[in-house]
Amino acid sequence: LEDGFVASNGPKDKLLGGLLPAGFHEGTCLSRYQSASYRKASPHLLSHYLSRRLRKYEALHRRCGPNTALYNKTIEQLKNRHNNGTAGCNYVVWIPFSGLGNRMLTLASAFLYALLTNRVLLIHPDASMRDLFCEPFPHTSWLLPSDFPMKGFPKFSRTNPRCYGKMLRRKASANSSDDAAAQRPPATVYLYLFHDYDDFDMHFFCEDDQQFLRKIPWLVIESDNYFAPSLFSIPSYEEELSRLFPKRDTVFHHLGRYLFHPTNTVWDMITRYYQAYLAKAKERVGIQIRIFNRGSPFMHMLDQILACSLRENLLPDVNLKEPIVSTTNKVVSKAVLVTCLHSEVYEKMKTMYYEHPAVTGEIVGVYQPSHEEVQQTKEETHNKKAWAEIYLLSLTDVLVTSAWSTFGYVAQGLGGLKPWILIRSENMTMPDPPCRRALSMDPCFHNPPTCSCNGKRDVDKVLVSYVRHCEDLSSGLKLV
Ligand code: GDP
Repeated sequence: LEDGFVASNGPKDKLLGGLLPAGFHEGTCLSRYQSASYRKASPHLLSHYLSRRLRKYEALHRRCGPNTALYNKTIEQLKNRHNNGTAGCNYVVWIPFSGLGNRMLTLASAFLYALLTNRVLLIHPDASMRDLFCEPFPHTSWLLPSDFPMKGFPKFSRTNPRCYGKMLRRKASANSSDDAAAQRPPATVYLYLFHDYDDFDMHFFCEDDQQFLRKIPWLVIESDNYFAPSLFSIPSYEEELSRLFPKRDTVFHHLGRYLFHPTNTVWDMITRYYQAYLAKAKERVGIQIRIFNRGSPFMHMLDQILACSLRENLLPDVNLKEPIVSTTNKVVSKAVLVTCLHSEVYEKMKTMYYEHPAVTGEIVGVYQPSHEEVQQTKEETHNKKAWAEIYLLSLTDVLVTSAWSTFGYVAQGLGGLKPWILIRSENMTMPDPPCRRALSMDPCFHNPPTCSCNGKRDVDKVLVSYVRHCEDLSSGLKLV
């Protein structure tokens, strides 16, 4: 065992080697402590320092969380729209946006930012998030209370005067360095970190701007991107990040396993499905299919998946000519878990292994829990299925994912798996190769900043040894 890392005490180590806190009532969130019975122990070591910092964060959250005296004090500032810098607790409020995969990635990024800046993370839940995740921090809540004074909050729009990019734009056009906003920091600032953000919004990732943001008690983050990798290029966080994550590519793996525990309803779906279809197999293969362009033919997708699986030895080919008769009682040796909004590829694949034997003699079972047809991000039941399927994918031994999909990124991160990524096809032709092994299990930041930080350094030029362009999107960045 390397210095500074925590040893996990085998597969039944309920607290995952010090990642999870003790002190929860087990029955309120069965998945938190039962997951160890479904997952292999993570081979990715956790640093002692991360474990200690998480406990410290939990204490901070208890001290400053909703309805505490310190929280009530900062709420006063918010109501008065006045930042007197004395309240003692600072917050990051996370706003949900886009599909579940995107949400989980931005939430984990916001939590990392909260850890780095000693802020308390609160989430602004909408109805679609109901009954998906257990509370991650003991004896407190991460939900913004329903009586939260939203009136004091900036409208979540980049045209709002409290949007950080807008503040910088105004300052640039006034061409003045003594802008009032810079002199008297407001009580709230809204950070617009979407894929279409501009150079001003991107300044969030610059050192000087971080110094300014430290003075703001309430930061509101809205994003559809896994922005954690670019926090590594902000000089004042470099050292802390290297202590938290000596192995950089474990950021989402550890934070995701720490934060995201399915509620009992979702856990029931996961465990029932797992026991029924996956538990007995010798090997579980996950295939995550995300078809962004409904026009792309399903047959083409099936061909690509088969080409990838055969080439990489993930699935056996079938013998089209003759039956293979065996007298032994075979058990299911491979269970293939397909997830997709549609069922065509699954039907074809299942039929293929039904009509023909595998050349290896293996028994291959193909299963797909649901086919919802359309994305319905506002639907509670739809999101529960999405979460259950992301989790089931993360329990597989071998994973094939679709390029650009955050749904697949979350599964690979939670599972600690380096997936084979199905390369996006150009002009409906079969990509060559059909899939590529991911460099690391950490998700891709699709739209990293490209601005220059006050002439000091271009944030996108900071390609250090542990940040690379993504396998599935060359303009993206990921931790490796
Ligand atoms: P991305 O769009 O692929 O990056 O992933 P997101 O999770 O952010 O958004 C896609 C959304 O579509 C999911 O959250 C689900 O609501 C739905 N969806 C996509 N693929 C699947 C699937 O395989 N199973 C289920 N149940 N839902 C899916």
